[in-house]
Amino acid sequence: MDYDVVVVGAGPAGCLAAKYAAKNGAKTLIIEEHASIGSPVQCAGLLSTSAIRECEVVPDSGFHPITGAFVYAPDRRRIRISGGEIKAYVVDRRIFDRTLAENAIRSGADILMRTRAVGIDIGRGAHGRGRRRIIHVAIEGEPDVIEADVVIGADGIQSRIARWAGLDTPDTILSGAQVSTVYDFEDPEFVEIFPGSCAPGFFAWAIPYHGSARIGLAVRPGSGVEHGSAWAHLKRLIAEHPVVSEKCAPGIAGIAIGGIPISAPQQTAADGLLIVGDAAGQVKPTSGGGVYPGAVCAKIAGKIAADAVLEGDTSVRRLSEYDKLWRARIGRELAIGRRINEWMARLSDSEINRLVGVLDDDELLDLITRYGDMDHPSVVVRKLLMNRKSMGAFLKMVLGSD
Ligand SMILES: Cc1cc2nc3c(=O)[nH]c(=O)nc-3n(C[C@H](O)[C@H](O)[C@H](O)COP(=O)(O)OP(=O)(O)OC[C@H]3O[C@@H](n4cnc5c(N)ncnc54)[C@H](O)[C@@H]3O)c2cc1C
Repeated sequence: MDYDVVVVGAGPAGCLAAKYAAKNGAKTLIIEEHASIGSPVQCAGLLSTSAIRECEVVPDSGFHPITGAFVYAPDRRRIRISGGEIKAYVVDRRIFDRTLAENAIRSGADILMRTRAVGIDIGRGAHGRGRRRIIHVAIEGEPDVIEADVVIGADGIQSRIARWAGLDTPDTILSGAQVSTVYDFEDPEFVEIFPGSCAPGFFAWAIPYHGSARIGLAVRPGSGVEHGSAWAHLKRLIAEHPVVSEKCAPGIAGIAIGGIPISAPQQTAADGLLIVGDAAGQVKPTSGGGVYPGAVCAKIAGKIAADAVLEGDTSVRRLSEYDKLWRARIGRELAIGRRINEWMARLSDSEINRLVGVLDDDELLDLITRYGDMDHPSVVVRKLLMNRKSMGAFLKMVLGSD
Protein backbone atom coordinates (compact mmCIF):
# COMPACT_ATOMS: atom_id res chain seq x y z
CA MET A 1 0.00 0.00 0.00
CA ASP A 2 1.28 3.39 -0.97
CA TYR A 3 -0.09 6.75 0.19
CA ASP A 4 0.98 10.37 0.30
CA VAL A 5 -0.26 10.77 3.88
CA VAL A 6 -1.10 8.08 6.43
CA VAL A 7 -2.88 9.16 9.62
CA VAL A 8 -2.55 6.80 12.59
CA GLY A 9 -5.66 6.99 14.82
CA ALA A 10 -9.28 7.80 13.97
CA GLY A 11 -10.05 10.07 16.92
CA PRO A 12 -11.20 13.65 16.27
CA ALA A 13 -7.64 14.86 15.56
CA GLY A 14 -6.89 12.01 13.15
CA CYS A 15 -10.16 12.33 11.23
CA LEU A 16 -9.78 16.11 10.80
CA ALA A 17 -6.12 15.82 9.80
CA ALA A 18 -7.08 13.22 7.18
CA LYS A 19 -9.96 15.36 5.94
CA TYR A 20 -7.63 18.34 5.42
CA ALA A 21 -4.86 16.25 3.85
CA ALA A 22 -7.34 14.74 1.37
CA LYS A 23 -9.05 18.09 0.70
CA ASN A 24 -5.68 19.59 -0.14
CA GLY A 25 -4.88 16.98 -2.76
CA ALA A 26 -3.02 14.21 -0.89
CA LYS A 27 -3.85 10.53 -1.33
CA THR A 28 -4.72 9.85 2.30
CA LEU A 29 -5.33 6.81 4.50
CA ILE A 30 -6.44 6.62 8.15
CA ILE A 31 -5.62 3.48 10.11
CA GLU A 32 -7.44 2.68 13.34
CA GLU A 33 -6.62 -0.22 15.63
CA HIS A 34 -10.14 -0.69 16.98
CA ALA A 35 -13.11 -2.26 15.18
CA SER A 36 -15.35 0.66 16.05
CA ILE A 37 -14.58 4.38 15.92
CA GLY A 38 -14.99 6.36 19.17
CA SER A 39 -14.85 3.28 21.42
CA PRO A 40 -13.95 2.88 24.20
CA VAL A 41 -15.21 6.34 25.19
CA GLN A 42 -12.79 8.24 27.43
CA CYS A 43 -14.50 11.62 27.43
CA ALA A 44 -17.25 13.60 29.13
CA GLY A 45 -18.32 14.79 25.68
CA LEU A 46 -18.63 18.45 26.69
CA LEU A 47 -17.77 20.54 23.64
CA SER A 48 -18.06 24.31 23.32
CA THR A 49 -20.06 25.63 20.38
CA SER A 50 -16.78 26.81 18.85
CA ALA A 51 -15.27 23.32 19.23
CA ILE A 52 -18.20 21.90 17.30
CA ARG A 53 -17.83 24.60 14.64
CA GLU A 54 -14.10 23.89 14.44
CA CYS A 55 -14.91 20.20 13.87
CA GLU A 56 -17.26 21.28 11.05
CA VAL A 57 -20.22 19.39 12.51
CA VAL A 58 -23.79 20.73 12.72
CA PRO A 59 -25.49 20.08 16.09
CA ASP A 60 -28.56 17.84 15.88
CA SER A 61 -31.16 16.58 18.36
CA GLY A 62 -28.64 14.07 19.76
CA PHE A 63 -26.60 16.98 21.11
CA HIS A 64 -27.53 18.00 24.66
CA PRO A 65 -27.41 21.84 25.07
CA ILE A 66 -25.59 23.51 27.98
CA THR A 67 -26.38 27.11 28.90
CA GLY A 68 -24.56 27.55 32.20
CA ALA A 69 -22.59 26.20 35.12
CA PHE A 70 -22.85 25.98 38.91
CA VAL A 71 -19.44 26.15 40.57
CA TYR A 72 -19.48 24.70 44.10
CA ALA A 73 -16.87 25.71 46.66
CA PRO A 74 -15.77 22.99 49.12
CA ASP A 75 -17.96 24.70 51.77
CA ARG A 76 -21.01 24.16 49.44
CA ARG A 77 -21.37 27.86 48.59
CA ARG A 78 -22.01 28.05 44.89
CA ILE A 79 -22.03 30.56 42.07
CA ARG A 80 -24.28 30.45 39.05
CA ILE A 81 -22.78 31.42 35.69
CA SER A 82 -25.26 31.75 32.86
CA GLY A 83 -25.79 33.96 29.85
CA GLY A 84 -29.05 32.28 28.87
CA GLU A 85 -27.70 31.08 25.53
CA ILE A 86 -26.20 27.76 24.44
CA LYS A 87 -22.49 27.82 25.27
CA ALA A 88 -21.71 24.14 24.73
CA TYR A 89 -23.19 20.76 23.89
CA VAL A 90 -22.73 17.33 25.42
CA VAL A 91 -22.26 14.70 22.74
CA ASP A 92 -21.93 10.95 22.44
CA ARG A 93 -18.30 10.63 21.33
CA ARG A 94 -19.01 7.33 19.54
CA ILE A 95 -21.44 9.08 17.21
CA PHE A 96 -19.45 12.32 17.06
CA ASP A 97 -16.15 10.63 16.10
CA ARG A 98 -17.94 8.50 13.52
CA THR A 99 -19.38 11.64 11.92
CA LEU A 100 -15.86 13.08 11.69
CA ALA A 101 -14.60 9.84 10.09
CA GLU A 102 -17.43 9.93 7.54
CA ASN A 103 -16.58 13.55 6.74
CA ALA A 104 -12.96 12.53 6.11
CA ILE A 105 -14.13 9.73 3.81
CA ARG A 106 -16.38 12.21 1.96
CA SER A 107 -13.34 14.41 1.39
CA GLY A 108 -11.54 11.48 -0.25
CA ALA A 109 -9.64 9.74 2.58
CA ASP A 110 -9.53 5.94 2.79
CA ILE A 111 -9.87 4.22 6.15
CA LEU A 112 -8.68 0.83 7.38
CA MET A 113 -10.17 -0.42 10.66
CA ARG A 114 -8.63 -3.08 12.90
CA THR A 115 -5.23 -1.94 11.67
CA ARG A 116 -2.59 -1.19 14.25
CA ALA A 117 0.72 0.56 13.60
CA VAL A 118 3.40 -1.60 15.24
CA GLY A 119 6.56 0.13 14.06
CA ILE A 120 7.87 2.82 11.78
CA ASP A 121 11.06 3.23 9.74
CA ILE A 122 12.45 5.71 7.32
CA GLY A 123 13.87 4.40 4.01
CA ARG A 124 13.71 4.36 0.23
CA GLY A 125 10.56 2.26 -0.01
CA ALA A 126 9.60 -0.29 -2.65
CA HIS A 127 8.73 2.30 -5.31
CA GLY A 128 12.06 4.11 -5.35
CA ARG A 129 10.45 7.47 -4.50
CA GLY A 130 13.21 8.88 -2.26
CA ARG A 131 13.16 8.75 1.54
CA ARG A 132 9.78 7.63 2.77
CA ARG A 133 8.09 6.49 5.97
CA ILE A 134 7.55 2.73 6.16
CA ILE A 135 4.77 1.86 8.59
CA HIS A 136 4.70 -1.69 9.88
CA VAL A 137 1.11 -2.64 10.63
CA ALA A 138 -1.01 -5.53 11.79
CA ILE A 139 -4.19 -5.64 9.69
CA GLU A 140 -6.68 -7.85 11.53
CA GLY A 141 -3.61 -9.42 13.16
CA GLU A 142 -1.74 -10.04 9.88
CA PRO A 143 1.60 -8.22 9.42
CA ASP A 144 1.84 -5.82 6.47
CA VAL A 145 3.62 -2.65 5.40
CA ILE A 146 2.26 0.72 4.28
CA GLU A 147 4.44 3.40 2.68
CA ALA A 148 3.81 7.11 3.02
CA ASP A 149 5.53 10.41 2.39
CA VAL A 150 4.15 11.81 5.63
CA VAL A 151 2.78 10.02 8.69
CA ILE A 152 0.51 11.97 11.04
CA GLY A 153 0.53 10.46 14.53
CA ALA A 154 -2.95 11.08 15.95
CA ASP A 155 -2.68 8.03 18.16
CA GLY A 156 -3.70 9.64 21.45
CA ILE A 157 -2.10 10.01 24.81
CA GLN A 158 0.02 6.84 24.63
CA SER A 159 1.40 7.90 21.22
CA ARG A 160 3.85 5.29 20.04
CA ILE A 161 4.31 7.21 16.78
CA ALA A 162 5.86 10.13 18.71
CA ARG A 163 8.19 7.81 20.62
CA TRP A 164 9.25 5.86 17.51
CA ALA A 165 10.06 9.18 15.80
CA GLY A 166 12.18 10.27 18.77
CA LEU A 167 9.80 13.11 19.72
CA ASP A 168 9.11 13.89 23.36
CA THR A 169 5.67 13.04 24.72
CA PRO A 170 3.69 15.32 27.11
CA ASP A 171 5.27 15.39 30.58
CA THR A 172 2.25 16.51 32.63
CA ILE A 173 -0.61 14.05 32.53
CA LEU A 174 -3.76 14.28 34.65
CA SER A 175 -5.49 11.05 35.64
CA GLY A 176 -9.19 11.11 34.82
CA ALA A 177 -12.07 8.85 35.86
CA GLN A 178 -15.75 9.09 35.06
CA VAL A 179 -18.96 7.12 35.53
CA SER A 180 -22.29 7.24 33.69
CA THR A 181 -25.17 7.24 36.12
CA VAL A 182 -28.32 9.07 37.21
CA TYR A 183 -28.05 12.43 38.98
CA ASP A 184 -30.52 14.93 40.30
CA PHE A 185 -29.64 18.04 38.27
CA GLU A 186 -31.33 21.22 39.43
CA ASP A 187 -31.15 22.46 35.84
CA PRO A 188 -30.51 19.90 33.08
CA GLU A 189 -28.84 22.59 30.95
CA PHE A 190 -26.22 23.36 33.64
CA VAL A 191 -22.99 21.52 34.32
CA GLU A 192 -21.78 21.37 37.92
CA ILE A 193 -18.11 21.93 38.78
CA PHE A 194 -16.43 21.03 42.09
CA PRO A 195 -12.89 22.38 42.60
CA GLY A 196 -10.96 21.51 45.76
CA SER A 197 -9.46 18.55 47.58
CA CYS A 198 -12.17 16.22 46.22
CA ALA A 199 -10.06 16.30 43.01
CA PRO A 200 -6.53 17.45 43.97
CA GLY A 201 -4.91 19.62 41.33
CA PHE A 202 -7.97 19.81 39.07
CA PHE A 203 -11.74 19.51 39.63
CA ALA A 204 -14.72 17.17 39.61
CA TRP A 205 -17.72 17.52 37.30
CA ALA A 206 -21.35 16.46 36.87
CA ILE A 207 -22.48 16.76 33.26
CA PRO A 208 -26.06 16.11 32.12
CA TYR A 209 -26.76 14.11 28.98
CA HIS A 210 -30.37 13.45 27.95
CA GLY A 211 -31.63 12.35 31.38
CA SER A 212 -28.44 10.63 32.46
CA ALA A 213 -25.21 12.03 33.86
CA ARG A 214 -21.45 11.81 33.54
CA ILE A 215 -19.83 12.25 36.92
CA GLY A 216 -16.08 12.44 36.87
CA LEU A 217 -12.90 14.10 37.99
CA ALA A 218 -9.26 14.44 37.18
CA VAL A 219 -6.35 14.64 39.58
CA ARG A 220 -2.88 16.04 39.02
CA PRO A 221 0.14 13.96 40.00
CA GLY A 222 2.25 16.02 42.39
CA SER A 223 -0.81 17.45 44.17
CA GLY A 224 -0.53 14.93 46.96
CA VAL A 225 -1.99 12.10 44.87
CA GLU A 226 -0.45 9.12 43.16
CA HIS A 227 -0.80 8.71 39.41
CA GLY A 228 -3.87 6.60 38.66
CA SER A 229 -5.69 7.30 41.89
CA ALA A 230 -8.48 9.18 40.10
CA TRP A 231 -10.80 6.20 40.44
CA ALA A 232 -10.32 6.10 44.24
CA HIS A 233 -11.10 9.82 44.44
CA LEU A 234 -14.17 9.39 42.24
CA LYS A 235 -15.58 6.60 44.42
CA ARG A 236 -15.04 8.85 47.46
CA LEU A 237 -16.69 11.81 45.68
CA ILE A 238 -19.81 9.79 44.92
CA ALA A 239 -20.00 8.26 48.40
CA GLU A 240 -18.99 11.20 50.59
CA HIS A 241 -19.07 14.59 48.85
CA PRO A 242 -21.76 16.68 50.59
CA VAL A 243 -23.40 17.75 47.30
CA VAL A 244 -22.60 14.92 44.88
CA SER A 245 -23.43 12.07 47.27
CA GLU A 246 -26.91 13.53 47.84
CA LYS A 247 -27.70 13.89 44.14
CA CYS A 248 -26.03 10.83 42.64
CA ALA A 249 -27.83 7.49 42.32
CA PRO A 250 -25.87 4.50 43.67
CA GLY A 251 -25.85 2.44 40.44
CA ILE A 252 -23.23 2.88 37.74
CA ALA A 253 -23.94 2.25 34.04
CA GLY A 254 -20.39 2.72 32.72
CA ILE A 255 -16.84 3.59 33.76
CA ALA A 256 -14.20 5.48 31.77
CA ILE A 257 -10.63 5.93 32.94
CA GLY A 258 -7.95 7.78 31.03
CA GLY A 259 -5.10 10.26 31.06
CA ILE A 260 -5.30 13.90 30.02
CA PRO A 261 -2.02 15.41 28.74
CA ILE A 262 -1.73 19.11 29.56
CA SER A 263 1.71 19.98 28.26
CA ALA A 264 2.96 20.07 24.69
CA PRO A 265 6.43 18.79 23.77
CA GLN A 266 9.03 21.16 22.27
CA GLN A 267 8.83 19.57 18.81
CA THR A 268 5.82 18.15 16.99
CA ALA A 269 7.45 17.55 13.59
CA ALA A 270 10.18 15.22 12.34
CA ASP A 271 11.31 14.08 8.89
CA GLY A 272 8.16 12.82 7.15
CA LEU A 273 6.15 12.94 10.38
CA LEU A 274 3.83 15.14 12.46
CA ILE A 275 1.99 14.53 15.73
CA VAL A 276 -1.41 16.03 16.64
CA GLY A 277 -4.09 16.01 19.32
CA ASP A 278 -3.43 14.23 22.62
CA ALA A 279 -0.27 12.75 21.09
CA ALA A 280 1.10 16.32 21.00
CA GLY A 281 -0.40 17.42 24.34
CA GLN A 282 -2.79 19.81 22.56
CA VAL A 283 -5.29 19.95 25.42
CA LYS A 284 -6.67 22.92 27.39
CA PRO A 285 -4.97 22.79 30.82
CA THR A 286 -7.88 24.64 32.46
CA SER A 287 -10.64 22.19 31.46
CA GLY A 288 -8.91 19.05 30.14
CA GLY A 289 -10.77 19.54 26.86
CA GLY A 290 -8.77 18.19 23.93
CA VAL A 291 -11.25 18.19 21.09
CA TYR A 292 -11.11 21.92 20.31
CA PRO A 293 -7.31 22.41 20.34
CA GLY A 294 -6.81 19.03 18.65
CA ALA A 295 -9.20 20.07 15.85
CA VAL A 296 -7.48 23.44 15.32
CA CYS A 297 -4.05 21.76 15.09
CA ALA A 298 -5.18 18.74 13.05
CA LYS A 299 -6.55 20.92 10.27
CA ILE A 300 -3.20 22.74 10.08
CA ALA A 301 -1.32 19.39 10.14
CA GLY A 302 -3.43 17.92 7.31
CA LYS A 303 -2.92 20.93 5.07
CA ILE A 304 0.83 21.26 5.72
CA ALA A 305 1.33 17.51 5.15
CA ALA A 306 -0.49 17.68 1.80
CA ASP A 307 1.34 20.84 0.72
CA ALA A 308 4.72 19.32 1.65
CA VAL A 309 4.00 16.14 -0.33
CA LEU A 310 2.85 18.07 -3.40
CA GLU A 311 5.99 20.28 -3.20
CA GLY A 312 8.18 17.14 -2.88
CA ASP A 313 9.78 18.31 0.39
CA THR A 314 8.77 16.40 3.50
CA SER A 315 11.88 17.24 5.51
CA VAL A 316 11.57 18.32 9.13
CA ARG A 317 12.48 21.85 8.03
CA ARG A 318 9.44 22.01 5.73
CA LEU A 319 7.09 20.24 8.12
CA SER A 320 8.10 22.46 11.06
CA GLU A 321 5.82 25.08 9.54
CA TYR A 322 3.02 23.07 11.20
CA ASP A 323 4.75 23.50 14.56
CA LYS A 324 5.02 27.27 14.05
CA LEU A 325 1.45 27.68 12.80
CA TRP A 326 -0.30 25.74 15.55
CA ARG A 327 1.69 27.47 18.27
CA ALA A 328 0.85 30.84 16.69
CA ARG A 329 -2.87 29.91 16.75
CA ILE A 330 -3.21 28.43 20.26
CA GLY A 331 0.23 28.21 21.91
CA ARG A 332 -0.22 31.35 24.01
CA GLU A 333 -3.67 30.29 25.22
CA LEU A 334 -2.35 26.85 26.23
CA ALA A 335 0.61 28.46 28.07
CA ILE A 336 -1.67 30.86 29.99
CA GLY A 337 -4.06 27.95 30.70
CA ARG A 338 -1.17 25.99 32.15
CA ARG A 339 -0.29 28.88 34.48
CA ILE A 340 -3.94 29.17 35.60
CA ASN A 341 -4.08 25.41 36.17
CA GLU A 342 -0.86 25.48 38.22
CA TRP A 343 -2.16 28.39 40.33
CA MET A 344 -5.53 26.69 40.90
CA ALA A 345 -3.78 23.42 41.79
CA ARG A 346 -1.96 25.14 44.68
CA LEU A 347 -5.10 26.59 46.31
CA SER A 348 -6.32 25.03 49.54
CA ASP A 349 -10.02 24.36 50.19
CA SER A 350 -10.28 27.46 52.36
CA GLU A 351 -8.67 29.60 49.62
CA ILE A 352 -11.14 28.21 47.08
CA ASN A 353 -13.98 29.02 49.49
CA ARG A 354 -12.71 32.61 49.63
CA LEU A 355 -12.23 32.79 45.87
CA VAL A 356 -15.80 31.64 45.24
CA GLY A 357 -16.91 34.15 47.87
CA VAL A 358 -15.12 36.93 45.96
CA LEU A 359 -16.68 35.91 42.64
CA ASP A 360 -20.17 35.67 44.16
CA ASP A 361 -20.85 39.28 43.24
CA ASP A 362 -23.31 40.53 40.61
CA GLU A 363 -20.78 42.73 38.81
CA LEU A 364 -18.13 39.99 38.65
CA LEU A 365 -20.60 37.26 37.67
CA ASP A 366 -21.83 39.50 34.88
CA LEU A 367 -18.23 39.98 33.72
CA ILE A 368 -17.61 36.19 33.81
CA THR A 369 -20.81 35.56 31.88
CA ARG A 370 -19.90 38.12 29.23
CA TYR A 371 -16.26 37.18 28.74
CA GLY A 372 -16.14 33.54 29.86
CA ASP A 373 -15.03 31.28 27.01
CA MET A 374 -14.23 27.59 27.59
CA ASP A 375 -11.64 27.64 24.84
CA HIS A 376 -10.01 30.98 25.69
CA PRO A 377 -10.05 31.35 29.50
CA SER A 378 -7.29 33.98 29.34
CA VAL A 379 -9.89 36.54 28.17
CA VAL A 380 -11.99 36.41 31.34
CA VAL A 381 -8.91 36.12 33.57
CA ARG A 382 -7.52 39.31 32.01
CA LYS A 383 -10.86 41.07 32.56
CA LEU A 384 -10.92 39.96 36.21
CA LEU A 385 -7.36 41.12 36.73
CA MET A 386 -8.25 44.51 35.26
CA ASN A 387 -11.33 44.87 37.47
CA ARG A 388 -10.66 46.91 40.61
CA LYS A 389 -13.11 44.99 42.76
CA SER A 390 -11.85 41.48 41.92
CA MET A 391 -8.20 42.55 41.83
CA GLY A 392 -8.48 44.07 45.31
CA ALA A 393 -10.05 40.90 46.66
CA PHE A 394 -7.48 38.66 44.93
CA LEU A 395 -4.64 40.72 46.36
CA LYS A 396 -6.10 40.37 49.85
CA MET A 397 -6.33 36.62 49.24
CA VAL A 398 -2.73 36.35 48.06
CA LEU A 399 -1.47 38.53 50.93
CA GLY A 400 -3.58 36.53 53.36
CA SER A 401 -5.56 39.41 54.92
CA ASP A 402 -9.36 39.84 54.92
C1 LIG B 1 -12.21 11.29 31.66
C2 LIG B 1 -11.98 12.20 30.47
C3 LIG B 1 -12.93 13.16 30.14
C4 LIG B 1 -12.72 14.01 29.06
N1 LIG B 1 -13.69 14.92 28.74
C5 LIG B 1 -13.51 15.76 27.69
C6 LIG B 1 -14.51 16.70 27.32
O1 LIG B 1 -15.58 16.77 27.96
N2 LIG B 1 -14.29 17.51 26.26
C7 LIG B 1 -13.12 17.46 25.53
O2 LIG B 1 -12.95 18.25 24.58
N3 LIG B 1 -12.15 16.55 25.84
C8 LIG B 1 -12.32 15.70 26.90
N4 LIG B 1 -11.36 14.78 27.19
C9 LIG B 1 -10.14 14.73 26.35
C10 LIG B 1 -10.48 14.12 24.99
O3 LIG B 1 -11.12 12.89 25.15
C11 LIG B 1 -9.20 13.94 24.17
O4 LIG B 1 -8.45 15.14 24.22
C12 LIG B 1 -9.50 13.62 22.69
O5 LIG B 1 -10.17 12.41 22.56
C13 LIG B 1 -8.18 13.55 21.92
O6 LIG B 1 -8.45 13.24 20.58
P1 LIG B 1 -7.31 12.55 19.70
O7 LIG B 1 -7.92 12.37 18.35
O8 LIG B 1 -6.04 13.28 19.84
O9 LIG B 1 -7.05 11.13 20.39
P2 LIG B 1 -8.03 9.93 20.70
O10 LIG B 1 -9.44 10.38 20.74
O11 LIG B 1 -7.45 9.26 21.91
O12 LIG B 1 -7.86 8.97 19.44
C14 LIG B 1 -6.67 8.24 19.22
C15 LIG B 1 -7.02 7.07 18.32
O13 LIG B 1 -5.82 6.42 17.91
C16 LIG B 1 -6.05 5.03 17.91
N5 LIG B 1 -4.71 4.39 18.02
C17 LIG B 1 -3.84 4.48 19.05
N6 LIG B 1 -2.71 3.80 18.78
C18 LIG B 1 -2.87 3.27 17.55
C19 LIG B 1 -2.04 2.46 16.70
N7 LIG B 1 -0.81 2.07 17.09
N8 LIG B 1 -2.52 2.08 15.49
C20 LIG B 1 -3.76 2.46 15.08
N9 LIG B 1 -4.59 3.22 15.84
C21 LIG B 1 -4.15 3.63 17.05
C22 LIG B 1 -6.93 4.80 19.13
O14 LIG B 1 -7.62 3.57 19.04
C23 LIG B 1 -7.87 6.01 19.03
O15 LIG B 1 -9.01 5.73 18.24
C24 LIG B 1 -11.53 13.91 28.28
C25 LIG B 1 -10.57 12.93 28.61
C26 LIG B 1 -10.80 12.09 29.69
C27 LIG B 1 -9.75 11.04 30.01
